[in-house]
Amino acid sequence: MSKQAKGLSIEAAASRFGWPLTRMKVCELTLSYKCNARCVFCYSSPEMEAWNSKKGLDFRKASAYLLSSYKNGSRMVQFIGGEPTVYDELPKLVRLAAKIGYPAIQIVSNGLRLADRAYARELAAAGLNTAVLSIHGAAASAHDPITGIEGSFAKVMKAAENLLSLGVYLNTGTAVTGLNYKGLPRLVKFVTAGLGVDSCHIIATHYIGAAYENKSKLKISYAAQLPYVEEALRVFHANIRRPAFGMLSNYLPCLLPGRENLMGDWKYPVDDDDLFLPDAVYRDRMYGMITDSLRMKAPACRGCVYNKVCAGFEKEYFAIYGGREFKPLKRKPAALGPDPVYS
Ligand code: SF4
Repeated sequence: MSKQAKGLSIEAAASRFGWPLTRMKVCELTLSYKCNARCVFCYSSPEMEAWNSKKGLDFRKASAYLLSSYKNGSRMVQFIGGEPTVYDELPKLVRLAAKIGYPAIQIVSNGLRLADRAYARELAAAGLNTAVLSIHGAAASAHDPITGIEGSFAKVMKAAENLLSLGVYLNTGTAVTGLNYKGLPRLVKFVTAGLGVDSCHIIATHYIGAAYENKSKLKISYAAQLPYVEEALRVFHANIRRPAFGMLSNYLPCLLPGRENLMGDWKYPVDDDDLFLPDAVYRDRMYGMITDSLRMKAPACRGCVYNKVCAGFEKEYFAIYGGREFKPLKRKPAALGPDPVYS
């Protein structure tokens, strides 16, 4: 990584790209279920061949969704998958999003294809101005076994270098499993000090898809991982006071009281984002459909100060570990943690 390849701060990115410094409504497009990696924790089925053969989003439909969601108030478009870079028409869609007027155009990627500088340059020239790269360890020995692709760490590092040198605002995402939780503090230090990112998303395992199939290898209780999550947050806040985005996904206030503001998805959804899949459309309730089907509460939650707003914990987690870790909070903590710029 060259010395110049450091990330923009969220304030610098907002000023450069004309982003408001408040939450933007999101148009999230799942382009296809295809992927060029084999991540052991993936939400998709472990039978990747079956998922890879599923039909992707029709280009004309994708174009229409981009336009209608913009008219419906979206100002950030997020291209996801599968892996969005395996969708051949991604550069065309990025160009169209820019033409429509989206100020924030983002991809969430494993970085394998973005290691190709010409491809990264093509996307940046089309209008891509923000990316979330999935990085699951601070070294190849930690990252590669999780993606199932030898050499993937070197590629995601090259992707980061390409995007940063092209002026793309970068965040990272990390899935926490039994394979990598002890490395979280080191990883957070690596991405904040090394890449200069000012937001890194820490996601507790969702036991669905491949993660469900691999749960005997991946499972990790909250009790075991939380000391490392806490340490990772301390490392983060040693350099950065306020993250750009919510950093903790699939965590709850009763597990980390005083960090509520950093948690992205623990409440019953009130967001108004649009989610477009190749075979379904969820307008104004993209997280609602996930929350409704995957989560549950315990009888003890009735005694919790957050009971009315908390969406609870995941059913599959409960099936593995039970509910003893979810101890109702009698009162709200005095402080709720720093408020992200986009919360
Ligand atoms: S309502 Fe239940 S799951 Fe939610 S924070 Fe309180 S104890 Fe935890």
